[in-house]
Amino acid sequence: MERSTEFHVVVIGSGPAGCTAALYLSRANLIPLVLEGIQPGGQLTITTDVENFPGFPEGIVGPKLMDLMRQQAERFGAVFRMEQVESVNLRTHPFEITTDQKIYQCDAVIIASGASAMQIGLPSEKALQGFGVSYCATCDGFFFKGKEIVVVGGGDSAMEEATFLTKFASKVTVVHRREELRASKIMQDRARANPKIEFVLNSTVEEVFGTKEGGVTSLTIRNLKTNEASEMKAQGLFVAIGHTPNTKAYEGQITLDDKGYIVLPHAHSTQTNIQGVFASGDVVDHVYRQAITAAGTGCMAALDCERWLTNERITERWGLPKGEEERV
Ligand code: NAP
Repeated sequence: MERSTEFHVVVIGSGPAGCTAALYLSRANLIPLVLEGIQPGGQLTITTDVENFPGFPEGIVGPKLMDLMRQQAERFGAVFRMEQVESVNLRTHPFEITTDQKIYQCDAVIIASGASAMQIGLPSEKALQGFGVSYCATCDGFFFKGKEIVVVGGGDSAMEEATFLTKFASKVTVVHRREELRASKIMQDRARANPKIEFVLNSTVEEVFGTKEGGVTSLTIRNLKTNEASEMKAQGLFVAIGHTPNTKAYEGQITLDDKGYIVLPHAHSTQTNIQGVFASGDVVDHVYRQAITAAGTGCMAALDCERWLTNERITERWGLPKGEEERV
């Protein structure tokens, strides 16, 4: 496989964290390669209107926002390639990143590979993503004012999303596959006490009906105890069955927590357990998970990376960032 030493820094992931890191790196003259992965633009590309990203008072559709972020980084020289990371070797330096097309050797890496919302796995769910099927209540709840919504899941996320959605929806039905909820007692109690929330237990969503033009109209629910199927009216389906951080490639090298998220061992730093490897965005964050927080930590990772490269004087091999030459 072809080897490349074209890039000093490789950013893995092209969501808000990766794009922001790329923007800051390029403006520091550390022209990065951004490996876009299988979902260029990240999770925002499967949502429609984004109304909570500052600077867009009228809102902006997710794919457009990501396109603008990418263009902004490209304006300063960042290079985006639609390649998928297959493995990494972070035990040697320069690091080695193997994609489906090349092996990149680089001095620093920013991992911004994000997390993927788990999906039920129905073709009809996929077809209506962004058109009534959502994976983020904070992002999309506002569009369901006065509507009837189904939330799938029995964990804290499902309880939190269901409770949040009652601000907008006329009714929220939580559909969970077992009799017992997995959620913490306090979150369950809060949801159960909410008069707008109903529970349909021992059940799964089997089919989503609707169109891209008109959104979701109804669902088929199957009771797993009786095996009976029934139709439920709903204009929205929120799937809250967990997230999977995209960290498979780093197992055994980067320290991960028990859920697979990257651990940042130092306070006020995006550096991982390996010097020169930084992480930002949803791959480290299962709490906030917002585009704006991901962008913020992407900026932090770029600044940490730039400082590390400068302090380690590794930049001498590649040419120093603009304005740094006289300081050496
Ligand atoms: P989770 O705890 O793993 O719960 C996932 C839920 O989805 C479970 O009830 C599971 O059912 C169900 N599920 C999984 N796959 C499914 C499928 N294919 N079809 C239908 N249902 C499926 O995930 P989470 O709720 O996202 O929480 C993740 C972590 O974040 C937890 O540690 C949680 O405590 C934390 N969290 C905390 C807060 C908070 O404190 N404010 C808020 C959100 C999340 P089973 O129960 O049958 O397995």
